[in-house]
Amino acid sequence: MIKVPYLDLAQQYKTLAPELGVLHDVMASGRYILGENVAELEQEIADLCHCACGVGVASGTDALVLALMALGVGDGDEVITTPFSYVATAAAILRVGAKPVFADIDAETYNLDPERVELAITERTKAILPVHLYGQPADMWAIWELAHEHGLAIVEDAAQAIGASIGTEQVGEFGHAACLSFYPTKNLGAAGDGGMVVTSDSGIRDKVDVLRCQGERERYKAEVLGLNSRLDEIQAAILRVKLDHLWAWTQRRRDIARAYDAALGDLPIMTPAVMDDAFHVYHCYTLRVGRSERDELRQHLADRGIDTGVYYPVCLHQQPAFWDGSVQPNAEAAAKRVLSLPIYPEMSVEQVGAVVDGVRRFYE
Ligand SMILES: *Cc1c(COP(=O)(O)O)cnc(C)c1O
Repeated sequence: MIKVPYLDLAQQYKTLAPELGVLHDVMASGRYILGENVAELEQEIADLCHCACGVGVASGTDALVLALMALGVGDGDEVITTPFSYVATAAAILRVGAKPVFADIDAETYNLDPERVELAITERTKAILPVHLYGQPADMWAIWELAHEHGLAIVEDAAQAIGASIGTEQVGEFGHAACLSFYPTKNLGAAGDGGMVVTSDSGIRDKVDVLRCQGERERYKAEVLGLNSRLDEIQAAILRVKLDHLWAWTQRRRDIARAYDAALGDLPIMTPAVMDDAFHVYHCYTLRVGRSERDELRQHLADRGIDTGVYYPVCLHQQPAFWDGSVQPNAEAAAKRVLSLPIYPEMSVEQVGAVVDGVRRFYE
């Protein structure tokens, strides 16, 4: 039986090992936090996102917190976001003292529904925080228009979507700031935690730069209350090696997605719906199946050695830390029906075939 893990980072290491001599150079340099590799990576990632600058930080979560702080979002402010995301999205808003206000998602793309966003705008709304879920850009032009009309800031949560785009516009270029995560399982992952804020606003760049270093512009002269949230040289060196492979890896993810689409399209399930003009980078390949069969299908695949994921089984507005009593029908339905299949660049043709075969057999 061919085993198919949800992700195989040990396999990826084997292909990268010959290029990782750079790690010894970092060790030999004696400089381990915020050095040359971080500075180079900041520019390389900014270029990829069509932004002027990047600021390397300790995690994707901190990138969100620091971007909101830099925009002056805090006590009494409301930030509109999606109820269907990872904890960090809402946690960052609450962490800076603001209130996450959830707007429901589109039932097909699982991303924020701009009409719902509009209905959620109040006097206290300061920003909109869209998530590009599973690697597909949110409906950014509609969100951009709303933000423009109401004078709101946009912070993109691009943790799952590095390299995604709408037409010629890259994810990261729509917002006042955008946040990336280099958590190991992300499309561009480090060997530990890491994140980045990208922006074309030099004021935001400068603020995040100071905030990530305890609010110090000069040593022992803290100007504002900041954090200790910096990116390590070792992580930046690894990320720079991996960045050279990102385009090919993304193409491979898209090829696997096309193979799944073609092989599963006739089954009574919904394969991922891609927005017109969107370039999806398939951090996840997520099916929507019948409510009653999700767990059975998951078990059926597990019995065949195929791992799957559920992102996310519980909506944010239903978790104790963020509970607000609201009802978000599309997000709640999605939480009960989504199932993500393995999709990663190192997957073999045989493994893709095994997944297809496993899913088809369940419905036959
Ligand atoms: C991973 C992730 C984050 C947080 O990133 P960390 O680096 O784990 O802190 C935030 N938002 C989304 C949507 C994510 O998937």
